[in-house]
Amino acid sequence: MTLLYPLDAELDSDVRLQLLGKKAAGLSEMTALGIPVPPGFTITTEVGRQYRDSGTLPDGLDAAVEQALRTIEERLGRVFGNADNPLLLSIRSGAEVSMPGMMDTVLNVGLSQHTLSGLAAQRGDKRFALDGYRRLLQMYGTVVRGIRADRFQYLLSDLKTELGRPRMLDSELSASALEGLVASYLEVIEDASGAPFPQDVRTQLWDAIGAVFASWENSRAVRYRRMQGIDDAIGTACTVQAMVFGNTGPQSGSGVAFTRNPSSGERQLYGEFLPNAQGEDVVAGIRTPVALTANASRPGKEASSLEASLPEAFEAISNYCASLESHFGDMQDIEFTIEDGRPYLLQTRTAKRTAHAAVRVAVDMVKEGVLSKDDALLRVDARSLEQLLQARLPAEADLAADGIKPLAVGLPASPGAASGRIVFDADDAVRWVSEGQEVILIRQETSAEDIHGMKAAKGVITAAGGMTSHAAVVARGLGKCCVVGCGDLRIDLRERTVRLDGSRDSQLLREGDLLTLDGSTGKVYTGALDVVASATVDELRELMSWADGVRRMRVYAEADTPQAARAALSYGAEGVGLCRTERMFFAQDRLFAMRCTLLAFENEQRREWLAELERAQRDDFAEIFRAMDGRPVTIRLLDRALGEFLPHDDESFQPIADALDLELEEVIKTAERHRESNPAFGHRGIRAGLTIPGLYDMQLRAMLFAARDCTDQGLAVDLEVLIPMVSFTSEIEVLRASIDSVHRQVFTNPTSTFSCRVGAMIEVPRACLIAGEIAEHVQFFSFGGNDLTQTALGVSRDDASRFLPTYRNELGLLAGDPFTHLDEGVAELIAIALERAKPVRPQLLAGLCGDQGGSPVSIEICENLGLDFISAPLSQLPGARLAAAQARLHQKNRSGAVFGAV
Ligand code: PEP
Ligand code: MG
Repeated sequence: MTLLYPLDAELDSDVRLQLLGKKAAGLSEMTALGIPVPPGFTITTEVGRQYRDSGTLPDGLDAAVEQALRTIEERLGRVFGNADNPLLLSIRSGAEVSMPGMMDTVLNVGLSQHTLSGLAAQRGDKRFALDGYRRLLQMYGTVVRGIRADRFQYLLSDLKTELGRPRMLDSELSASALEGLVASYLEVIEDASGAPFPQDVRTQLWDAIGAVFASWENSRAVRYRRMQGIDDAIGTACTVQAMVFGNTGPQSGSGVAFTRNPSSGERQLYGEFLPNAQGEDVVAGIRTPVALTANASRPGKEASSLEASLPEAFEAISNYCASLESHFGDMQDIEFTIEDGRPYLLQTRTAKRTAHAAVRVAVDMVKEGVLSKDDALLRVDARSLEQLLQARLPAEADLAADGIKPLAVGLPASPGAASGRIVFDADDAVRWVSEGQEVILIRQETSAEDIHGMKAAKGVITAAGGMTSHAAVVARGLGKCCVVGCGDLRIDLRERTVRLDGSRDSQLLREGDLLTLDGSTGKVYTGALDVVASATVDELRELMSWADGVRRMRVYAEADTPQAARAALSYGAEGVGLCRTERMFFAQDRLFAMRCTLLAFENEQRREWLAELERAQRDDFAEIFRAMDGRPVTIRLLDRALGEFLPHDDESFQPIADALDLELEEVIKTAERHRESNPAFGHRGIRAGLTIPGLYDMQLRAMLFAARDCTDQGLAVDLEVLIPMVSFTSEIEVLRASIDSVHRQVFTNPTSTFSCRVGAMIEVPRACLIAGEIAEHVQFFSFGGNDLTQTALGVSRDDASRFLPTYRNELGLLAGDPFTHLDEGVAELIAIALERAKPVRPQLLAGLCGDQGGSPVSIEICENLGLDFISAPLSQLPGARLAAAQARLHQKNRSGAVFGAV
């Protein structure tokens, strides 16, 4: 076992990280770069693990620590425990993965009644020595003896009250006041823990080392590891370092610096400095720090910035920052202390930054020659890209040129644009969205009861309220587009209508009608206007083009309407990977026809209603083909539990009975037959398609006629027909024959060369197992991650939230949500399906669709499985493009390593 390494030991960087932890690895790299770091050594994670497992420290550690201490003593000319010239130490934790603030630290170890006056003499400041001692007593008391921190804090605030200045700063306490405080702290330690504070400095040191190792198991740290998915087994190291002091006078202080602005990514040193203070005072926020640069200072405060007040130290720190950034090839966040004009760096780590800054820094660093494009792609968190896109409407001049004018104007409360169907209350918003609709919530004004509806809606509009109204504030917090105070709205909740009075010819809109909002201008339009994505950071376009150049998998979008298809292009989709046709039936006019289709007794009658649906779908499909301009469009045949199309209240059946010329009871009875106990596993997908006469033929005719309409006009169409919920090969055989027959009926011209591809959705385990047989009949597979997860795990996707959060957060049984990130077992089923299908049809294309399609974890698995495409929800598309590139790079890097080894 390796016991410890001095910070200036020469080590391989992987070994550094594993044995020393992240913080000490940074210190030792800085030491190697010649950056001033207080001398010290690190007791390894191997020792930490032994201590955690057995409560013992290895033989020989004592001697190794003594020897390492001697080296520090020789370098600094001070001696640990010496009464005249004492050396003080800091004892800190540090694991391989950073866990900020979760474990413990003890500073000023080495101070005692015996060394106190030596420190006072060394620094010429008795107050300073006493201040250090009371800090040690408090840290030792809380960290080593487990005494509650407030016992010390109460004593401190009582003392200030006694002195008549309850709000005085700690730094204003006199030496004699501190002397009294030290005495009472010593009493608290003895009183609360039953043993006095050790005056022997070696006892202090070993107590502190033990406590730092033990803090790996404190409840904060354990909870943090659970949340972040950090392995409990790795353990912490412990770094022992000479203390440096930022509280020795006006030439001293402590601060933090970012090598670039962490919120904008701009290339400028950014951070804070607290003169005449220790690092923990900066974190505690006791006094207001000053800016590092004069530029970033508040007006009038320029002269107190670090740059102006300690220019030499500032320049040195700027230079260290520059060399750290180029050494690590990434933006750093450092902690420093200046002791009597001399700067020391105490920590360097990769800086946290906003998504905006991450993209900008990555692209800038490529331009500066610091990073390669591949490395820049790996630097950005793919999940964060969603925050950087804002939906917007076409320019107002373009709208006007198309004769589109706003019908009302309110206050632009929360930016972005959205279109959807009007609903008047929050519950309806949630229900409609669960049925696949996009909605705009209209309210007179909103309150806490509306929040679930606001979350579900694409946008919110209120008749009353201002820029700080409930609706405005909540919508901004949710990142939802919102228009408030639109006085032109006259809402009639009983009739479920809204009149827009602002327009010359006032318009009456009903629940379910389409409306578009522009939250950036406050303008309101009727109908569904195209909403496109625009990046809020210029560099995103460039980063995306690099990602597109690297990735292997194609990235498609889920889009169910022509409008969504057009939006998908603005998000960079290469095609539509999943058009869920059933969602088209939820619009009011179509829903009625769908209900009549399902409830008709006579085939003849059913055909009439199907013909109506066919007309609507044909137009929609043609518009989607036009929008996608020859790119692949995968249209899935209807897949929805049929009961979900039917009304929930008896009154709504009357118009259906009238239209079908049937008795009300008969219609209600037929509807009852469509209700299922387990709709998710029932009469849906191909099962409905094969048993409800004419249903799938209608959809096939609609898509093929739409394709013919477009190709007749000379437009390119790339159609893929997708068959959902396949379980048996026989199902596919029958449907394949129908597809071919409808194709012949539609493309009667013998010179027509139009062909479409047919694919199966693989979303039940049986389909994975018989994938070889299915592959004989189709050209592509689309793995439906949502259903495959629910059928493989036997967990209903609609009820999973009842126990999965407890499994994950409280019991720690699962690292992630299997409905968000592809589960290993489900991935194994996909692997089996590919293994059985590829030998039968080597050209078979295969991809993943469903809610997991946009998750970087799932995308990585898809890359490793060798899938050809992924299909993701719209807003996740840029993230999916980046994640696909990252997955490719990870794979390349791995295979590079293998070749290297050979
Ligand atoms: C799926 O199951 O993953 C899928 C895309 O289909 P749906 O979510 O419509 O059932
Ligand atoms: Mg499905």
